[in-house]
Amino acid sequence: MSKRRALVAGNWKMNGTLASIRPLLAAIAGGLDEETAVEVVLCPPFVYIPEVSDFARPGRVGLGAQDVSEREGGAYTGEVSARMLKDCGCRYVIVGHSERRALYGEQDGLVAEKFRAAQAEGMIPILCVGESGAEREAGHTEAVIARQLDAVIEQAGGAAFANAVIAYEPVWAIGTGKTATPDEAEARHAFIRRRLARHDQRIAEELRILYGGSVKADNARQLFNGADIDGGLIGGASLSAEDFLAICRAAG
Ligand code: PEP
Repeated sequence: MSKRRALVAGNWKMNGTLASIRPLLAAIAGGLDEETAVEVVLCPPFVYIPEVSDFARPGRVGLGAQDVSEREGGAYTGEVSARMLKDCGCRYVIVGHSERRALYGEQDGLVAEKFRAAQAEGMIPILCVGESGAEREAGHTEAVIARQLDAVIEQAGGAAFANAVIAYEPVWAIGTGKTATPDEAEARHAFIRRRLARHDQRIAEELRILYGGSVKADNARQLFNGADIDGGLIGGASLSAEDFLAICRAAG
């Protein structure tokens, strides 16, 4: 584990009901160690943000959203702006999740606009990058990550990463039960840090880079072991308090 403060973020995706998230929140609250050094963030679906916000108020758990509009406001039916998310207590927002890129056609340029929109409201974007299985097999992993990063650097500038988090999420590992090996994950994270260091060495050193993709209670400790791995972005396992708490402990 690195010298930066570890962060574990739970991405609930489009899961849950009030009936299921209330006991989940209570169990997470009850199970977090008082003295934990790990920063814990939950990213519920938009409609449950107020529910999680009430729970997050004591300051032990941070609040994030799963997506944000690139627009400030206006006639954009169905969209949610960064200002609205901030208004509801969100500090973090995931941008460029592979499901948004693959299922909703979000291109690098749009992801960069969302990154900027979040920062314009003082929020911290969690920028997801990572290669698909086909890109990995073709040997294009680093080229894909570089392209995704460079699109944001081009629009927002390298200095913007002083107020951002990156999540390296190999697409083939998300929700599949497959993970990068700890060595592979570390190599990718080191590559991302080096890429940012070309713009600003200090910002690159302080940047938190999370690993995501089938992190579970029984593999988290090994995956988080690398010097450039600063915690995780957790999908499926964040829907179980027991598993999520075990992953938070593994990051500590
Ligand atoms: C994710 O949704 O970002 C994710 C990493 O999912 P999972 O942990 O289920 O692979």
